[in-house]
Amino acid sequence: MKIDWVIVGAGFAGATLAERIATHLDKKVLVVEKRDHIGGNAYDEYDESGILVHRYGPHIFHTNLKHVWDYLSRFTRWRPYYHRVLAVVDGKKVPVPFNLNSLYALFPPGQAARLEEALIDEYGFGARVPILKLRESEKKDLRFLADYIYEKIFYGYTLKQWGLKPEELDPSVTGRVPVYISRDDRYFQDKYQAIPEHGYNQLFRRMLAHPNINVLLNTDYREIENEVKFSRMVYTGPIDAFFDYVYGKLPYRSLRFEFATLDREWFQDVGTVNYPNEFDFTRITEFKHLTGQEYSGTSIMREYPYADGDPYYPIPCPENEALYKQYRLLAEKESNITFVGRLAQYRYYNMDQVVDVALKTAEEILRGI
Ligand code: FAD
Ligand code: UDP
Repeated sequence: MKIDWVIVGAGFAGATLAERIATHLDKKVLVVEKRDHIGGNAYDEYDESGILVHRYGPHIFHTNLKHVWDYLSRFTRWRPYYHRVLAVVDGKKVPVPFNLNSLYALFPPGQAARLEEALIDEYGFGARVPILKLRESEKKDLRFLADYIYEKIFYGYTLKQWGLKPEELDPSVTGRVPVYISRDDRYFQDKYQAIPEHGYNQLFRRMLAHPNINVLLNTDYREIENEVKFSRMVYTGPIDAFFDYVYGKLPYRSLRFEFATLDREWFQDVGTVNYPNEFDFTRITEFKHLTGQEYSGTSIMREYPYADGDPYYPIPCPENEALYKQYRLLAEKESNITFVGRLAQYRYYNMDQVVDVALKTAEEILRGI
């Protein structure tokens, strides 16, 4: 078989590059995916009860990148959706990211008002302060608050999720959910926040619908690399696996997803409830909040983090970055192979960041770089 490009992986990175190359270079593209479906970790499907669920954890699309939003909007219409998360703290459910509403939910009104004033004085209304930064405060009130939030919301959750303490990870990890000096309860503040109107699977089917694209499922690219003649490759799988772990395994964090369908209309008040301190799981997501599906029953998912298994999260810390850089040097020597995506670049990317980097890579390819 003669094709121009092989693309390994049918997630956002692979699908974006396949679509760009097929459309703009008018080249034959073969997408090889080892799973039995397209969509990578953003894959969604109807469960046995007919409820739309996300097989690999809740996926909420959010971005400030207009070009990414415009690009994906060619393949889907959107259901506007603002994700809200509550965390269980001492038996109370409080909004996360921790904000002024959380303050009043946890402390007596007088104390909450004093802490609010101290936060606004120090950082200004509307500021987003990473918890590790807040802990550096020299003001007694703020230091008390920082330690409280750290202990009740970040410490246990992070230990479960990563097997590490917050300060052992790159600060950007806990910085994703900064203390927000605001009354805004939304989990994200991006300009565009939505879920594909008919699900991610339909979005991916449309991205890959070009006549120049063929998709081969249930196939590890290694099974075909000697049988198929191709000129260039885009690889979106784990970079260490590509190089047969010559420098050792890059650590990833994995998850076990436990689904349940309940014979009641709703299980919880918001899309996700976090359990920083109780249980072995980190959070419970109820999908109908995300998808807007109307149904008499409801499906939920618990996420149990663990060390081995499918690689879901690169673990950002200096040691792992140093190991990744060794693999990166090997990757740079592969002149016909481009490495893109969350696993191939060992980056804790959101979906929009993956599409952004894939679009930039496609531009370089189109310009012949
Ligand atoms: P992937 O989606 O991982 O795709 C890579 C594909 O390559 C996979 O399908 C894999 O099977 C395939 N592959 C690997 N090796 C081979 C091989 N040897 N041969 C053939 N195929 C191979 N982002 C958000 O923006 N919002 C969210 O709410 C959000 N929630 C998330 C929740 C969880 C639990 C997780 C794990 C991630 C979440 N993300 C979220 C991140 C999002 O999933 C990723 O940014 C995005 O899906 C990465 O796309 P990708 O194409 O780089 O990788
Ligand atoms: N985090 C936490 N408690 C929370 C929410 C988040 O400690 O209630 C920390 C934790 O380390 C988590 C990180 O912030 O892994 C990033 O959270 P996010 O919700 O962005 O994670 P993701 O959705 O990518 O799993």
